[in-house]
Amino acid sequence: MRRIGIIGCGTAGIQLAYSLKDDFDVTVHHYEEQQNILDGRIRSTQVHFHPTLERERRFNLPAEDNAPPIRTIHFQLGQQKLFTGKLSGSAASVDQRLHFAESMHDLAAQGVKFIHRRLQPEDLPDLAPSYNLIIDATGKAGPLAPAPVEMRLTPYQAPQRKCIVGYFTGVQPVEPEGFSITVLPGNGEMFEIPAITDAGRATILFIEAVPEGILDVFKGIKNSSEFVARMANVIEEHFHLIYERIDMDQLALIDENAFLQTAITPVIHRPYAILGGTLILGCGDSVFLSDPITGQGCNTASYAAEQLYETLMTHKELTWDEAVGNRLLEPYEAIYYGCYGMEQRDDGAAS
Ligand SMILES: Cc1cc2nc3c(=O)[nH]c(=O)nc-3n(C[C@H](O)[C@H](O)[C@H](O)COP(=O)(O)OP(=O)(O)OC[C@H]3O[C@@H](n4cnc5c(N)ncnc54)[C@H](O)[C@@H]3O)c2cc1C
Repeated sequence: MRRIGIIGCGTAGIQLAYSLKDDFDVTVHHYEEQQNILDGRIRSTQVHFHPTLERERRFNLPAEDNAPPIRTIHFQLGQQKLFTGKLSGSAASVDQRLHFAESMHDLAAQGVKFIHRRLQPEDLPDLAPSYNLIIDATGKAGPLAPAPVEMRLTPYQAPQRKCIVGYFTGVQPVEPEGFSITVLPGNGEMFEIPAITDAGRATILFIEAVPEGILDVFKGIKNSSEFVARMANVIEEHFHLIYERIDMDQLALIDENAFLQTAITPVIHRPYAILGGTLILGCGDSVFLSDPITGQGCNTASYAAEQLYETLMTHKELTWDEAVGNRLLEPYEAIYYGCYGMEQRDDGAAS
């Protein structure tokens, strides 16, 4: 059986492990244990749209039946309601801490091997001969593989938003239930997302603050109580329609680690490298890192993982040498480049 090493056990790595495990000898390299993930900090707001949920069903990933269905998107401009759009299929947000930990447990029970170690780029030459193919699914920390930045597709040198996220109780959901987007022109956006977590249902409040704007007021916050107090102030001052649905005495984080602050510079890397004759394909954020404002990082990772699965299945019987690697790459590259209207990669050979 062909040996595939997957580095990373997040959105892309998990779906790949589920889809590939019956046809290949799959090993997942990861560095976070399940309990640490469950007890650790939130990572995302992870809205999986209908096509992603369909893929997860296709590959038998664990499903959270209690996840509140997201069927509508409510748009507000400042304090003014604009409209409510209906999604063609239901979406859902499952706390990644729960989803990742459950999936790792389930995959291990189904015989997928896990190797616990934080890999470094310099480990790859030693790792490469053990596999017919390595998939670099290391997320925004990646890529580990020597895959250069695609400068033509990477216009920003600094984050365009500060991401401020908390998972709360005490917020009455919008009706009809769904998620809501409030835009404060020039200053940023607030996303409100119903989610399921290990502790039950939560409402995610997610501010995308324009740096130095009126929402960029969470600097220096160190603990959960300061975070809650600041969020309450910001909502009272700037988001009146949300404020009306909050019982301020009940507003609380679901746990001490249920808040995060980050800022992401969008960047696109070449989706492959070849090391000592072994092909390394990137998948997910390690290739295509977008600002969370797009709400598409998980959905792109899932789509790319499915395309990679289809490609590998098509070429299952061939020897995975460099020549086949190039054939493997054609459809795979098309995912990453096609949507930008580019015909080939940006390595000097591109048109
Ligand atoms: C605030 C915020 C909100 C977001 N909201 C949404 C949303 O609503 N919808 C959406 O679609 N996307 C959203 N995203 C983006 C989404 O979370 C990511 O795009 C998605 O998780 C990427 O999947 P991935 O598999 O590429 O990486 P990840 O899910 O991050 O997984 C990476 C894995 O690699 C492992 N790893 C990293 N380095 C190493 C190493 N050296 N050795 C071994 N293992 C390693 C990590 O431990 C992890 O297991 C959001 C992101 C943020 C930050």
